[in-house]
Order: sequence, then structure tokens, then C-alpha cells
Amino acid sequence: MLEPPYPELDDLLVLMGEAGKRLSEIDATEGAAGNISVCICWPVEPRTRFQLVEQINLPQPIPELAGATFIVTGSGRRLREIIEQPVANLGCLVVDEGGSNGKLYTSHNKLFSRLTSEFNSHLAVHYDQITRSGTNFHAVIHAQPPYLTYLSHIPRYHDESYLNQHLLRWQPETILQLPEGIGLIPFQVPGSSELMEATTRSLREHRIVIWAKHGVIARSDISTKRASDRIEYAETAARYEYLNLTTGEQGIGLSPDEIRAICTAFNVQQTIF
Ligand SMILES: [Zn+2]
Repeated sequence: MLEPPYPELDDLLVLMGEAGKRLSEIDATEGAAGNISVCICWPVEPRTRFQLVEQINLPQPIPELAGATFIVTGSGRRLREIIEQPVANLGCLVVDEGGSNGKLYTSHNKLFSRLTSEFNSHLAVHYDQITRSGTNFHAVIHAQPPYLTYLSHIPRYHDESYLNQHLLRWQPETILQLPEGIGLIPFQVPGSSELMEATTRSLREHRIVIWAKHGVIARSDISTKRASDRIEYAETAARYEYLNLTTGEQGIGLSPDEIRAICTAFNVQQTIF
């Protein structure tokens, strides 16, 4: 939830660009992998940046979000290039009265013909989170960080207790940044309704969820960069875990007692350790 004064449209575009650049720096957005969307519930004037307009049907009706604005990456666009030319890579969707359709605003310079094919999953998560929490801002990022994704190919990491007790032991920050731990959804076909439903459910309990054998999805109700930070914290943890596996598991990590002491000192509630 953001308090006024709300960020300007340009500021939101810059933050999406910076998140895309950072995720690219950590190798989580190879080629055109990954996508970003934000939902803004205060009035936004898209035509200052996005001059073209077309009517589109929404993947699902969202009557409670009539009037809300979504800024979404275009299909096939590269997250690392958003920062150079935001309007060429992003579309701006304003939901009509009734919540079944919307006006998609785009730029003369746009480099895509439709929004990301993952928009159905993004929209379902935004809708679920906003109608449950009442937040006026929500960011969702899908990226493909290699260490987290690799660990999701090893069956024992599909147990969420095992996954979190192993990944959250390497740095004191990890439990503070991800006190609910990391969720994991077994493999589902990208863009499928099964993946969409499982993602929505798991993101009610976690700030970041692994899509097994594919990548991750993270959310924030503060900023796009907060969501990308969550991916970076989780990916760093997975990198330590990978390092430990490749060196014969010589490291033991922070002990459960040490992690509980960190949580007590920083007043963080958690149930993983
Ligand atoms: Zn993907």
C-alpha cells in the first residue's frame, strides 16, 4: 500500500526498467525470458506516454478493479531493454467499468503486438492480492534465475520445509527478507490455468514462489524493485546452496538457534526454523 504523494507514471516506468536491468545482471532474464507488471489503483493519465489506444478483453473479469491501470511488458520483449525505452517495451491497460474489458494504451514506438502471454497469471495474482489486502499498488515479476531453477530439478527440494531450511541458512538477511519462506509449485505448463491457480494460492502465503523447472514469480505491494530484490535474495541463497553441493556439502550454514536469535533481535515472526 502506498501513501500519497503517489509516484508519477514516469517514475513507475523507470523502476520497472531498473528491476529488469538488475534481474538481467543476475542472469535471470536470458533472451526475452521473464515479464513484469504493476497494478495502480489511483488515477493515471496514460496518454502522456502511450498515444495509441485499442479495446481488449481481459483474461478474467475483475469488476472490483474497474478504473485500475496495469503497466505490463509486451510479448517477446527483453527485460533488460525496458530501461532504455520503456514505452517501446510496455503497454498500459486501463480497466473499463464492469471489469471485463480494458483500453490498452501503447506508444507509436512499441516493439510488440500483444501483452506478455503470462499476463493471465499476473492478472490473477494482482486481483487476488488487491481484493484480499486492499492495497492500492501491486507489482509482479516472473524471471528465470538459474540457481533456484536448477535446484527445482532436484526432487528433494520440492519439499517446502526442506527447501526453506536449506536455502534460508546462508545469510542473516534471507529470513528477514523472506520470513514466510519460498513457495514451490510442481511443474505446470507455462501460461496454463493450472499454473495460474497454483500461483495465486501460493502467493497468498509467500512473497516469492518457484515454478519448478521454469523460474520464479515474486510480488510486492511497495515497488517493482522490492519484488526484484526478493528474487535476488532467493537466488543468492540458491547460489550458496549450489556452491555447497558442489563442494561436498562442507558448509553447515547458520544453525536454527542462530536464525531464531536473528529473528528475535529483529522482531520477525517465522515458522521455518
Ligand atoms: Zn518463463
